[in-house]
Amino acid sequence: MKLRIAGLSKESVVDGPGIRYVIFAQGCLHNCRGCHNPNTHPIDGGYLVELDEIYNDIINNKFIDGVTFSGGDPFVQIDEFIELAKRLKKHNINIMCYTGYIYEDIIKHEKYKEILNYLDTLVDGKFILERKTLKKPYVGSDNQRIIDVQKSLKQNKIIEVKW
Ligand code: SF4
Repeated sequence: MKLRIAGLSKESVVDGPGIRYVIFAQGCLHNCRGCHNPNTHPIDGGYLVELDEIYNDIINNKFIDGVTFSGGDPFVQIDEFIELAKRLKKHNINIMCYTGYIYEDIIKHEKYKEILNYLDTLVDGKFILERKTLKKPYVGSDNQRIIDVQKSLKQNKIIEVKW
């Protein structure tokens, strides 16, 4: 199985708490105005890497506190990211995922909701230029929520993380 990616950041401190291994997925359909990464939009752009290669790189990295799926939108390659998340969770690795979709829609979608089982944190929603913020950590605009996925699933309502 291969992932199509725009790039990797193997020890980032800006894409979630702690030091994180970040996978920038290639492909995004949201077309948010003011997006900083338009090069990640074409679904046939970027480059292909073996999922095994990324998985091995992550589990052999002793310095990270977690993994972040960013983009682009990782949900464009939902099967591949479900597989990677499932395998990483067997090692109890913390996983944060960005998407332009919102939690309320994801939970109604047969395939998209499956990945929630393996995520710790979901940053949801499109980037809205008029709501751009520098005050809220790890988001581009203040409509985007940082959701504690496991608590939200259990309580059947959205529980946001307060950092
Ligand atoms: S979801 Fe993210 S990558 Fe996609 S257009 Fe919006 S800001 Fe850009």
